[in-house]
Amino acid sequence: MPHTDLPGRIRSLDAYSPGLSIDEIRQKYNLPVVIKMASNENPLGCSPLLQQVIARKAPYAFRYPQSGNPRLCEALAERHKIDKAKIAIGNGSDEIIDLLMRILCEPRKHSIACFEPCFSIYPIQAQINGLETRRCALKSDFSFDFDKLLEKIDGSTRLCFVTTPDNPSGYCPEPEKVAEFAQKLSVRAPECLLVIDEAYMDFAPNAGTTSLLESGKLPANAAVLRTFSKSYGLAGLRIGYGILPDDLASYYWRARLPFSLNILAEEAAIAALEDYAFREATIKIVREGRKFLATGLARIGCHVWPSAANFLMFKLPKNSISAAECFEKLLAKGIIIRKLASYNLPDKLRVSIGNTSENLAFIEAMEAIL
Ligand SMILES: *Cc1c(COP(=O)(O)O)cnc(C)c1O
Repeated sequence: MPHTDLPGRIRSLDAYSPGLSIDEIRQKYNLPVVIKMASNENPLGCSPLLQQVIARKAPYAFRYPQSGNPRLCEALAERHKIDKAKIAIGNGSDEIIDLLMRILCEPRKHSIACFEPCFSIYPIQAQINGLETRRCALKSDFSFDFDKLLEKIDGSTRLCFVTTPDNPSGYCPEPEKVAEFAQKLSVRAPECLLVIDEAYMDFAPNAGTTSLLESGKLPANAAVLRTFSKSYGLAGLRIGYGILPDDLASYYWRARLPFSLNILAEEAAIAALEDYAFREATIKIVREGRKFLATGLARIGCHVWPSAANFLMFKLPKNSISAAECFEKLLAKGIIIRKLASYNLPDKLRVSIGNTSENLAFIEAMEAIL
């Protein structure tokens, strides 16, 4: 099959460029140990308690999961003190992002809005779904200009994505500003859903007040996305969830493939919600590591952007090597971080907070390289 007749929106897709894998680098450079600080994964790995749960539930892998994931919905409703009818669960929050587009938007008619740069899944899924992406540049300090974002939005815009804390910068807007934007959005485009992506909110200094979900002030035209990939350490199991307004979740469940969340993922997620000790330990090690890395990078002359997430964006000192060169030199030393060329930020790098020894190895490698 020559595939000459594929839709243009599919033919023009680039392959997703993820962080490099540990095995690739280990083989390429013939290294015994490789440290990965590229994909904002949990520095403590997978909780030992959850490993036990997954092993204990392994015999049930021959069963289909229960459609609608009612037990996890129940547990999440309890966790957030909200009505379980508002909850959507997906194979990663990526699935929810994609399905919201398919549920709320008509191809070639509707648009989505987001900042530039932002999490790449929003514009990529928009393209796949035949939707225009309206983009508003971040301010030069990577903070959000909500008024400018609002100007990009009109009656055709059905979804507006705001990431807080933001990826790749770590910037976290004040919750009052997000709420004010939601209010203005409801006037300008009543049909547009504000999607607040809180993938990294657990790492923010005062999540209880910084998150509109946690503080119970979620605007009526807003949804919140959360994930088990970061603070819960389950990125490989693919579990995300959303809190959606009105009866949108009921359409979500009708549109979602019935078994997209696998049975082991569901069991692990339910157990993770009760694994307080692991989550607290994660948040503690991330906050300490963030401080350690920011101080260490600043000491060797890097500019480090303030981050409320489990990663830091930084720029090398003037007159030193390029970001791409630094990235390659780190690889040769067995440390994988993230280049930001795909975010259109070729002079910047992003490093995920590792555990204590990984952070130390990274700073020592950077000192040697610069
Ligand atoms: C990591 C991340 C997610 C989580 O995606 P999953 O599909 O749940 O793993 C969502 N949004 C942003 C901005 C992220 O960086």
